[in-house]
Amino acid sequence: MRTINHWIDGRAVDREPERWGAVYDPGTGRQSARVALGGAADVDAAVRAAQAAYPAWRDTSVVKRARVMFALLELLKRDRGELAEVIAAEHGKVVPDALGEIQRGMEVVEVACGIPHLLKGDFSESVSTEIDLYSIRQPLGVAAGITPFNFPIMVPMWMHPIAIACGNAFVLKPSERDPSVSLEVARLYAEAGLPDGIFNVVHGDKLAVDAVLDHPGIAAVSFVGSTPIARYVYERGTTHGKRVQALGGAKNHAIVMPDADMDSAADALVSAAYGSTGQRCMAISTAVAVGRAGDTLIDKVVERAARLRTGPAADPDSEMGPLVTGAARDKVAGLVETGVREGAKLVLDGRDLRVPGHEEGFFLGPCLFDEVTTEMTIYKEEVFGPVLIVLRVDDIDQAIRLISENPYGNGTAIFTANGAAARKFQNEVQAGMVGINVPIPVPMAFYSFGGWKQSLFGDLHVHGPEGVAFYTRGKVVTSRWPVPRDSAVELGFPTAH
Ligand code: NAD
Repeated sequence: MRTINHWIDGRAVDREPERWGAVYDPGTGRQSARVALGGAADVDAAVRAAQAAYPAWRDTSVVKRARVMFALLELLKRDRGELAEVIAAEHGKVVPDALGEIQRGMEVVEVACGIPHLLKGDFSESVSTEIDLYSIRQPLGVAAGITPFNFPIMVPMWMHPIAIACGNAFVLKPSERDPSVSLEVARLYAEAGLPDGIFNVVHGDKLAVDAVLDHPGIAAVSFVGSTPIARYVYERGTTHGKRVQALGGAKNHAIVMPDADMDSAADALVSAAYGSTGQRCMAISTAVAVGRAGDTLIDKVVERAARLRTGPAADPDSEMGPLVTGAARDKVAGLVETGVREGAKLVLDGRDLRVPGHEEGFFLGPCLFDEVTTEMTIYKEEVFGPVLIVLRVDDIDQAIRLISENPYGNGTAIFTANGAAARKFQNEVQAGMVGINVPIPVPMAFYSFGGWKQSLFGDLHVHGPEGVAFYTRGKVVTSRWPVPRDSAVELGFPTAH
């Protein structure tokens, strides 16, 4: 059976680990590989390699660091087809979707190519006699990333290109459910000329995560995953004095106003709810239909969702793949059952879906609920599967209030033809990323990505300017080069003169 091991100090580790985990092909339900599950010793080996490599990398000119990113970008372009297949085989998402995530990750590398510009400080000449004042941003040392299964290449790339371009060394602990693509990225970094030890991968589960959070050699931790683990990572990491940004789960709502173009809104909702089988942190899982929008919307969503072709990632006809594991499929199917029991109206039921030749795969067809209320479990919990729920409200104020009172605050959207409604929504809604007639408002990489409320623990979002701020520390230098004859003792508090 294929084995997947750590990548430390520029090479794949060949030592037998203490524990192995199983990796599955979600399309067949069979185990496809085993992955090393690391512990404190593996994290320590990676941190030591990173610490040893860090001083020379920090002192490498920012232009040379940028050139490594340019080289990485070319290699990612060259290999994106194979990378997409590696992702599809372990995650289960269809290949075009995997290519999309690679593209969005590459856009962060493009931003990292501009790091000389992003690290420019301010300079004030002659703030006092012979005195100049300037600010610089310096790397932190060793940073770590802990990432979820749902975007196995893109989410780590929200972090490491920026961290490394800023001059840090990096230790990645990717999801143990689809770990292979991180090793491909490690090989590409080596080919791009990144020195050994600057990018390391330690596979594993909670043990490896705890070792990262406790290691005194790690200065900062970026986390993306579910809300309970994000909170835990934030609390444990900050207790150890680390800088932590922990992005959590989501329940993204889209308001559909009665004046919206209903066909476009239905197209957008179906794409955003069922794309990647609903396993996106920016998936629209909740539609809020205002007034008479509800009946038309339900009809149009059913018409489209019922036509979606669900099948294995490798089949070019598949539009929607399986869920990542059997446990994930069973959890989502269980939540659908709970929804029915609690009185929501199941308009489209994907639980009986059978994919011929793939009877053991982790498949679930699209599900749609109408008449959902805020007390129901399917509203309160993040479902993370191909399930769209519809709530009905009377007006936009009620819709905005409902979204703002939800504990999550990642993304949200409105579909409307009314500029004033869109503007009111944009101003009042309590969420970090807002779409206006755009269902999945993921910002471009030169802006920062992140939610509010329980979708983020910490202060800074990922990539863009906040990513650079997260992976660097500011320093302000007051510099005087006196002409010797002007020097004099002065005991008063210095004031600008
Ligand atoms: P997860 O929280 O189960 O796992 C995330 C990471 O934490 C993995 O590396 C995993 O190994 C580790 N982990 C799991 N259990 C742990 C524990 N008990 N202690 C310490 N570490 C642990 O998340 P997932 O199922 O891989 O990914 C899906 C979740 O991620 C969803 O909730 C989704 O909304 C969220 N997500 C959020 C964003 C965002 O931008 N906010 C982006 C992508 C995914």
